Amino acid sequence: GIVVERLTKRFGPNKVVDDVSFEIESGALVALLGPSGGGKSTVLRIIAGLESPDSGEVILNGKNATTTRVQDRNIGFVFQNYALFRHMSVRDNIGFGLSIRKRPRKEIATTVDELLSLVQLDGLGGRFPHELSGGQRQRVALARALAPGSSLLLLDEPFGALDAKVRLELREWIRRLHKERGITSVFVTHDQEEAMDLADRVIVLHKGRVEQIGTPEEIYDRPATEFVASFVGSIN
Ligand code: ATP
Ligand code: MG
Repeated sequence: GIVVERLTKRFGPNKVVDDVSFEIESGALVALLGPSGGGKSTVLRIIAGLESPDSGEVILNGKNATTTRVQDRNIGFVFQNYALFRHMSVRDNIGFGLSIRKRPRKEIATTVDELLSLVQLDGLGGRFPHELSGGQRQRVALARALAPGSSLLLLDEPFGALDAKVRLELREWIRRLHKERGITSVFVTHDQEEAMDLADRVIVLHKGRVEQIGTPEEIYDRPATEFVASFVGSIN
């Protein structure tokens, strides 16, 4: 699981993460929900080790992550704009995390084949990102994040920039992958419907602070603040 304790991060004069604490159990599927600029990506990047906090701690599977190098954190990350490597084939994109870990070629090939069929892109391994649709590219990004056998999956707006139909399709993908692999997963979204539909628990983040943590039902039925009430659109 993930424990985040009293995280704070400033950019210049702005406190973009302000005393944020939460716990995520192993195997949970959690949404980090909030409006643009609320600090969602920054929190996710701190958990991934791509950004360091000014204060506070991140504990991953019982180990203090502050002292763990990024590549040893065993985290799969899908970025906001699905940054696939443009000059690499689908196979090489998916296998990238394994080849930098110097895994044997044969093992990489087997894992890549498994993941290609998991995200139903069999036969498309030789294509390049520009030869895929947005939804297919996002599935490659998911497969790439899963390849090193990560125990945590962090997804930053995994459905961003896709049309409504593909967003729904991808939602089913995440649900399935999560069910089949049981990986602790955190996804960022500003879409309350998406959060409510997909997550076991929702963390509402606004102006760098946690407004509420709860199941979708709790958040919807008993919003803790006026902000949460208006953001999730419930009338109380
Ligand atoms: P969005 O939904 O638009 O992606 P977000 O909730 O992910 O927003 P963040 O990207 O975490 O928000 O940004 C939080 C705040 O921190 C914003 O005001 C942003 O401008 C600021 N910020 C983020 N990264 C930096 C940076 N590297 N330097 C300066 N300010 C930054
Ligand atoms: Mg963001």
